[in-house]
Amino acid sequence: MNFKSIAKMDLGRLILALTIASVLVSLANTLHASYQVQRQQLIDAALETNHAYASKLAASTDDFFASMMQQLAYAAQVVARDFDNPALLKAESERLFLQTDSFNSIAIIDRQAQVVSHAPQTLQLLGRKLETRGVRKALADRKPLISQPYLSAAGNLVISVSQPVFDAQRNYLGMIAGTIYLKHENFLNRLLASHYYQDGSYLYVVDQQRRLIYHPLNNRVGTAVEDNLAIEEVIAGIAGRREVTNSEHVAMLAGYAIVPATGWGVVAQRPKTATLAALDTLMLKVLLHALPVAALSLVFIWWCARRIARPLQQLASGARTMDDPATAGDIRRVRSWYYEAAELRQAMLVGIGLLQRNINRLRQDAQTDALTGLGNRRTLDQALAAWEREKTPFAVMSVDVDFFKNVNDTYGHDVGDGVLRALAQHMRDCARERDVFCRIGGEEFLVLLPRTSPQVALQVAERLRQQVERADMAPVGRVTISIGIAHWAGDAQGTAEVFKRADEMLYRAKRAGRNRVEVDMPEIRREA
Ligand code: GH3
Ligand code: MG
Ligand code: MG
Repeated sequence: MNFKSIAKMDLGRLILALTIASVLVSLANTLHASYQVQRQQLIDAALETNHAYASKLAASTDDFFASMMQQLAYAAQVVARDFDNPALLKAESERLFLQTDSFNSIAIIDRQAQVVSHAPQTLQLLGRKLETRGVRKALADRKPLISQPYLSAAGNLVISVSQPVFDAQRNYLGMIAGTIYLKHENFLNRLLASHYYQDGSYLYVVDQQRRLIYHPLNNRVGTAVEDNLAIEEVIAGIAGRREVTNSEHVAMLAGYAIVPATGWGVVAQRPKTATLAALDTLMLKVLLHALPVAALSLVFIWWCARRIARPLQQLASGARTMDDPATAGDIRRVRSWYYEAAELRQAMLVGIGLLQRNINRLRQDAQTDALTGLGNRRTLDQALAAWEREKTPFAVMSVDVDFFKNVNDTYGHDVGDGVLRALAQHMRDCARERDVFCRIGGEEFLVLLPRTSPQVALQVAERLRQQVERADMAPVGRVTISIGIAHWAGDAQGTAEVFKRADEMLYRAKRAGRNRVEVDMPEIRREA
């Protein structure tokens, strides 16, 4: 049982392990939960910011187109007054080009699609007929128009913004158009690129055909973007925010809005990794904040665990030595400050009491002769061992019943037993507290008298002999005993010899006629 309990974990360690595990789990849980919450907050905030930013730029772009339309409308009125006056047309197109800074070029085109004036002069388009789709559509529609991106006569990817020119009689004369070179520096990309981030955030604009009107990478302008949910929503006219993957397979947090004038979509996006980069620092802060309390609670729980475990440990160690008489005291001292420990302690005290009572009884039984209640050989050995050790002198009386065989033969064994019991009682009556009585064989007894001189032993023996002689042992009547006495003076010599001499004295008493006492000391040998 002992080695088993050593192999097992003790309660203190068990509770400590449990404590550490629970603190770690709750710490991990705290970290995980705050990680999730912070992460979602960061993502939501980035989405919201991008959406707000895209909305603002979409609104600015819309304003920009409205103001361009207004400028062109004003110029259209000016040139309509004298459309055949090249000087007026030139002056107006140059004013528009230089003054407003909104366009990369200005062209005034007549109904036959011929350029009648333009700015800057370096374009050298005067007199050329323009066959581009944008021009054809504007001439056909005779309405204010913002074109789709197209390749201009000079080979630039452009969009054009145009106003029709009508004379006072509402006759259609042609149009005045401003173009924006998408791949060159222009008013639009100055507006859109004015906000630049270091962390990989960027903004782009697509038209209804998913073509990039503006992108920070110039070479992508004019190309189409496929498979992008943000763009699908934006061209369907839905503003919003969502997580998307860009063309380089980078996860992006995008916000998007629509430019009403053109149906374009403005998309502002930030890499998710850049957004979440702050998370590690945040988590470290959470950990640093949580750690002291976690450590404190660990210490506190550990302390409590020890207090809870201590009485049980003490009871358990008491349980291992329940046969030790000192254990009861140990267990009584255990501070059982809670119910279960107190109950266990009480139960153990009861158990130990029972156990020790039983042990005492067994010990006594083992040292008691069942028939007479006197001691037996074990009692004798124990007393002798102590006296030999302490050199306590003692006298020995070896007692034997005379003619006992006859008693048995005549009255039966049970009556014989009764005689032996009666004799035992006589011995007890004659002796003192500290004397030791043993029945060592059938009807032979030894009486040890510590610190007793041979003379006194003789008196005791004589008293016993006479008492027995006088006693009526019904139905047997009179019974006598013979006694041999020897003495051990507490010298170095072993005690075995003294018993031998007591036996010799007994033998002598028997030979001398029985019902006698013989002492192993010539000078005090009594007369018969
Ligand atoms: P002596 O005077 O020489 O001692 O004669 P004795 O008959 O007593 O002889 P001994 O001491 O040798 O006899 C022992 C007898 O004691 C033998 C046996 O019948 C009887 N006896 C021994 N043990 C018991 C016992 O436990 N109960 C009874 N009833 N009788 C016993
Ligand atoms: Mg005998
Ligand atoms: Mg006898």
